[in-house]
Amino acid sequence: MIRTRTEPQPAPLWWQGQAVPAVLPAMPAGEPLPARVDVLVVGAGYTGLAAARETAAAGRATLVLDAQSVGSGCSSRNGGQVAHSIKPTFSALSKRHGADLARRIRAEAADAVVHLRGLATDEQLDCDWQPRGCFHGAHTRRHFGALVANLRDQAPGLEQRITIVPRAEQRSEIDTDFYHGGCVYHDDAAIDPPRLMRALLARAQQQGARIVDHCAVTALRRTRDGFELETSRGRIAARRVLLATNGYTGALSAWHRRRVIPIGSYQIATERLGLERVRALIPQGRNISDSRRVVVYYRPSPDGERIVFGGRASLDEQDPLVCVPRLRQMLCGIFPQLRSTAITHAWAGFVAYTFDTLPHLGQNDGLYYSMGYCGQGVPLAPYFGMRIGQQMADLPEGRTALDGLAFPARPFYFGTPWFLAASVFTYRLLDSLGL
Ligand SMILES: Cc1cc2nc3c(=O)[nH]c(=O)nc-3n(C[C@H](O)[C@H](O)[C@H](O)COP(=O)(O)OP(=O)(O)OC[C@H]3O[C@@H](n4cnc5c(N)ncnc54)[C@H](O)[C@@H]3O)c2cc1C
Repeated sequence: MIRTRTEPQPAPLWWQGQAVPAVLPAMPAGEPLPARVDVLVVGAGYTGLAAARETAAAGRATLVLDAQSVGSGCSSRNGGQVAHSIKPTFSALSKRHGADLARRIRAEAADAVVHLRGLATDEQLDCDWQPRGCFHGAHTRRHFGALVANLRDQAPGLEQRITIVPRAEQRSEIDTDFYHGGCVYHDDAAIDPPRLMRALLARAQQQGARIVDHCAVTALRRTRDGFELETSRGRIAARRVLLATNGYTGALSAWHRRRVIPIGSYQIATERLGLERVRALIPQGRNISDSRRVVVYYRPSPDGERIVFGGRASLDEQDPLVCVPRLRQMLCGIFPQLRSTAITHAWAGFVAYTFDTLPHLGQNDGLYYSMGYCGQGVPLAPYFGMRIGQQMADLPEGRTALDGLAFPARPFYFGTPWFLAASVFTYRLLDSLGL
């Protein structure tokens, strides 16, 4: 059936017709920033807002600056999937760091989910917490075998609730034969991304943190007792500074820029399909991911009426609208029944990968940072943001298993991932060969 299509809106579905994810009261153009603060946070996403809440609660005069509107980085653009999500497996981490530290690193990932669940359920944080789990599909029979084998690769005492789903039973999870079975991660959940961001904003403000949007930090330099920063609203001094810029880390710190790899992740939302149709496609309403190297992730929208589908749609970075046909093709490869479905929204954002696929937090030359969540920042950024905020406030509970780990760089990498297109091409090839 041929349908006339209107162009998708180039904005996240989650922004619900708004131009930006959160509007702060405008700061009058001529009003200066304070001359000096205890803590200055660069970046008002999950990380920066969670950190600011801790430093403000500890009595430190805290200012958060964002170059754009608050949360307009990844924190209002993501897929809202909450997974137990430090990438390296227990055995891979054990080889690198020994079994004890490996277990403690994996425990941080579990703690991040527990923390977010606690905020959502105990503190009633308004983020549309949906504890429905995740179905992870096997792309080939071989991948299914690997999934089953990997179930044994869990840190002792941190075993997740996982159920294997053979291909013959897969339709109870997803209405497709695309996968060769899979498994269900029962403790995963979904949230509404900008709602979580706005709730973290409110928590930071309630503790007295001040947040200013559309104010870029353009330079920083060390002084005897902290830092002096140039901003688009003038100069400011800060005793401690946090870089909470993740995939948007720019020229401000060359050291950090050499350590995070910004990678575009692209999403589309279908037109309203209706509750029944979405339930027929994904009967348990879970998040879905799969075992391909070029990641795809999708889920019902928070209102259960649409499918929101994301992944890497191009070799190099593109306008999100350019990626719509390919993402649509990927979606219809899984659900051929959506062939005539229109796409109403398309958007993208920059996640931050690291060379060891671990998040990193700590300080370098006095400059605090927490970044590199490798596309898993929905639980990790609020959690490690909280921890780095506690470290900045000299609180012992801020300590983590990741403290003191080397944050690796690579020769000839200065912040522009020139190797990305070749890597995506190779991964696609391996995926298409079913390897
Ligand atoms: C399309 C997409 C889908 C995703 N899906 C998921 C998912 O399903 N599950 C999951 O766990 N994770 C997901 N992620 C990743 C997750 O959203 C991020 O890891 C997380 O939001 C990072 O939060 P953050 O606060 O560290 O960074 P961000 O939210 O990106 O915030 C960084 C901020 O820094 C600001 N900034 C940068 N430089 C300056 C400067 N010089 N001065 C002032 N401000 C500056 C930027 O404007 C930006 O607002 C996804 C990401 C994308 C893009």
